[in-house]
Amino acid sequence: MLAADACVAWLAEVGVEARVFDAAPGRRSLVASYGPPGDDALVLSAHLDVVPADPAHWTHPPFEAVEADGCSWGRGAIDMKNGAASALAIMRHLARNQLPLERGIKVVLVADEEAGCGLGSLALARAHPDWIRGAVAVTEVGGFTTHVDGHRVYPVQVAEKGFVWMRLTIQGVPGHGSMPHSEGAIIKLADIVHRVASQPFPFRCTQPVRDFLEGIAEVLGGVKGTVFKGIGSELLSDFILDKLVRDGERTKVFKALLKDTISPTMCHGGTKANVIPGEAWLTVDCRILPGTDPDGFVREFRERVPGDYTIEVLQKGPALTFDKDHPIVLRMFEVLREADPGCFPVPQMLTGFTDARAFAELGMPCYGFIPVWLPPDMKFASMFHGHDERIPIHGFRWGLATLFELVKRFCG
Ligand SMILES: [Zn+2]
Repeated sequence: MLAADACVAWLAEVGVEARVFDAAPGRRSLVASYGPPGDDALVLSAHLDVVPADPAHWTHPPFEAVEADGCSWGRGAIDMKNGAASALAIMRHLARNQLPLERGIKVVLVADEEAGCGLGSLALARAHPDWIRGAVAVTEVGGFTTHVDGHRVYPVQVAEKGFVWMRLTIQGVPGHGSMPHSEGAIIKLADIVHRVASQPFPFRCTQPVRDFLEGIAEVLGGVKGTVFKGIGSELLSDFILDKLVRDGERTKVFKALLKDTISPTMCHGGTKANVIPGEAWLTVDCRILPGTDPDGFVREFRERVPGDYTIEVLQKGPALTFDKDHPIVLRMFEVLREADPGCFPVPQMLTGFTDARAFAELGMPCYGFIPVWLPPDMKFASMFHGHDERIPIHGFRWGLATLFELVKRFCG
């Protein structure tokens, strides 16, 4: 059974009729509405698809939703069946009790986010813009507890990097494996990978990152805060991250937020052990900052990574930035402060992309806010697409209550 069909059935139980959209076989999305109709609805959105999981690396089977040690374990537990479950629970609660709203609410649950959104939110936004249009959308990634120097910080996503996925076809000179030469396609591919690994694009601190650094600096206070803000300075950034912060996971995120980045992710070439191939292929995943145009990036890539290759752009999307002072963001900060007194909500930019792309195409702002309370020993970033993805059950319930509070305040 498709996840979407299960959601449709749960909504039908409380009399809410969802509309379904199939962008392709097995790629079903759904939309349900409650409350006053109109274009000023609050949209709660989540993707239903997940990335693969190799059971060999998991403590519990990744697709059985095992409950153990206070957590629900499984692929999608935090990315982001929790968001889909919360949106459904809120809508079921509203509909079952026929609670009155001043502003409507729409639940938009989509396929295909993990594959670039093309057969999910983007297709839905293009085929049925009126189904999903609203005043503002809320989806991943934000609202989870991040423990910083003994403080509890809650990032709320207000921006995300864009992306360009490209396949390079590398031309070389074929030959016999017994007589090596330096013009083989794989040798040339290795040279390109080497150049890519040096991250040849320049340092650039954009406004959303500056806002985030300032938010965290305020949390840390004093000298620590002042030093932390230096991460946004080209001269100091690497020194502070490598010598002072010295937290591999966090350093990786900060470095990615301060450059257009490139990751080689797939390569192949050659057909036989004794043949030097004349052609090889390299796929690269490039993530671009606000202000970098995807087409301009491709041209610049050529200049910064010289070599004998042609480029095929597989998919691309621009970076997105939304107003960090939007009324819903202020309410998100408010409900977080009430749900976890003494905490610090801060605006953040995501290194990845989300379904926000589809809402942005319709001119809607979209924020990352699926609250989850996490203990200090559970790091959100490492569970995202990682082994042993899980969510603390208490943390999920806390998050659901916090999200519901936001809905009540925004929709009346
Ligand atoms: Zn996700």
